[in-house]
Amino acid sequence: MEDLKQGLSLLFDLQTYDIQIADINKQISLAPGLIEEKNKALGKRKAELNEIKKKYVALISLKKEKETLLESKEKVIEKHSMELNTVKSNDTYNALLLEIEKSKADRSVLEDELLVLMEKVDEESAKVKIAENELQEFEKNTKKDISDIESNIAKLKEEVSALEKVIEEHKLRINKAMLPHYERLKDGRDGRGMALVDGDSCSECGMVLRMQLINQALKGQELVFCDNCSRILFKK
Ligand SMILES: [Zn+2]
Repeated sequence: MEDLKQGLSLLFDLQTYDIQIADINKQISLAPGLIEEKNKALGKRKAELNEIKKKYVALISLKKEKETLLESKEKVIEKHSMELNTVKSNDTYNALLLEIEKSKADRSVLEDELLVLMEKVDEESAKVKIAENELQEFEKNTKKDISDIESNIAKLKEEVSALEKVIEEHKLRINKAMLPHYERLKDGRDGRGMALVDGDSCSECGMVLRMQLINQALKGQELVFCDNCSRILFKK
């Protein structure tokens, strides 16, 4: 029955197309996950920038607090210094002097703290700028990557459509009785409904085949199935 062997050969060609489609569909199915990963990474970078900004804003408000405090100390010093000119009692005079000295000491501490803070503000401001630039670059690259993935998906989908057309044409040449066996077997197996007799084993599941099956496949007079994976066996 040369017809059956030829039919199996056509069926095997069909499988080659089906495998291509299955492989392409697998790539397509991975794309949303890849895009999600890219977006997640971008979200993480944005959150990191926000943390850096928060630190900067906190420093700025601390600096303002200290500046306000410094101002109030200046006012106290000024006020008490004026009062020195008008007080009558010695005790009040000394108390005022003490107040002024205390405020001056506080002022000195505040001024030192402000100097340190200003340096820190400058440092953090530089960090924010660097992080903003880096994020901008990262976002640009992420968008480019995602658009590459999307255009690749579109290309792959076109390939699938083209292959489907080829398959439809090819199926017309295949014996109608054989197709359902193959179609049923290939589902859930990445398009692999057939296996080759590879030496003495099944090319798909690797099981060593019974001699009888190998001989039957060689003769090509009937459909032969692997005992283990049930795929249609074909000897080229
Ligand atoms: Zn097998």
